[in-house]
Amino acid sequence: MSEIAMPDSVAHTVMERCDLLATCSEEAGCVTRRFATPPMHQVHELFANWMRTAGMTVQIDAVGNLIGRYESNRAGAQTLLLGSHLDTVRNAGKYDGLLGVLVALACLERLYARGERLPFAIELLGFAEEEGLRYQSVYIGSKAITGTFDVQALALRDEDGIAMVDALRAFGGNPDPALLRSPRWSPEELLGYCEVHIEQGPVLEAKQLPLAVVTGIVGQQRILVTFKGEAGHAGTLPMKQRHDALCAAAEFVLAAEMLGQRESGLVATVGQLQVQPGASNVIPGEVTLSLDIRHEDDTKRDLYADQLRERVDRICRERGITLAWQPVQRSPTVSCAPSLIKRWRQALLEEKYPVFMLPSGAGHDAVTMSTLTDIAMLFVRCKGGISHHPAESVLEEDVAAAIVALERFLKLTAKEVEDERI
Ligand SMILES: [Zn+2]
Repeated sequence: MSEIAMPDSVAHTVMERCDLLATCSEEAGCVTRRFATPPMHQVHELFANWMRTAGMTVQIDAVGNLIGRYESNRAGAQTLLLGSHLDTVRNAGKYDGLLGVLVALACLERLYARGERLPFAIELLGFAEEEGLRYQSVYIGSKAITGTFDVQALALRDEDGIAMVDALRAFGGNPDPALLRSPRWSPEELLGYCEVHIEQGPVLEAKQLPLAVVTGIVGQQRILVTFKGEAGHAGTLPMKQRHDALCAAAEFVLAAEMLGQRESGLVATVGQLQVQPGASNVIPGEVTLSLDIRHEDDTKRDLYADQLRERVDRICRERGITLAWQPVQRSPTVSCAPSLIKRWRQALLEEKYPVFMLPSGAGHDAVTMSTLTDIAMLFVRCKGGISHHPAESVLEEDVAAAIVALERFLKLTAKEVEDERI
């Protein structure tokens, strides 16, 4: 059992708020909340009320990030950032993103109810956009607040043809490129960024654990692979004289799967496949596929990519196929700060929760925040590892565990600041 006494109603309120916020949606009967849409205003309004009641000042920045500030008891104190994102994917669950903001809010409400201020300020961030649903461009909120926003993205159009610049203006934001390029803080002002988030994977459930301290956000590479063979008549061209691009691609898909199964920590996925000319009676002449590979160790991931490249070279040579291997993205692994990991571990230990470490296979705003300050994350078990789906589900007792752990984390941070260790 945990050391911090907390009434059941605290986690219960978080669960009720998740239900309430799920009704702020662009589509009736399901949760869809894209960047800079009216339901985002509703979410802001609800949060702003809760934040003000908890003694915080509230503002919405130029890109539509919600920022609640809980002042320190010291003048000129540094700031600890907490938060997660407020947008969702299409037909989403109720907890991805929102849970992290609500867990942090619950801790701040408890602090305020006790009349407690800390030797550092806390800013609670509800990011305007993380999922990339509206503009196929991820982390818009955290990029703008860290000064890493690419202003060319303002010209992107959504599926209704609305440019980001116009959507932002209509929302009440300010698309002034200078504002969207200036970081809110300098690194010296900050103590770090901590995000609580559902795991979005099945590991914690399998281990029967409520929480995990995240080691880092796994790096990834995306490669477009094109196989050029020869199209031909499906009835007249003998099997031995064919250069079937899809057969070569199929061999490669299975080779990628096999490598992923063999190497620990590696995941390899072919998620898109375009077959030309794409007729039932024509031998496929050209295939383009997407390869997504992820591993926490950047060096190993590069090595596995090289191995797959060699393998596909061989497949294509043997089949008389021309190959194009085009890397489109390479994001290195972002490690959580060792000092913050240590503090999370201590917080779990002191609250008598098992300490378990886990890398994040999914991307998060923490990736962008790492350009400005130290980052850390805490994962909460979710049912069946399901996310980005209405069936997303968390246990109230796990939410309680996350609140208690974060409260202990804040106490430990306060002690380190008071002892002048940070
Ligand atoms: Zn998320």
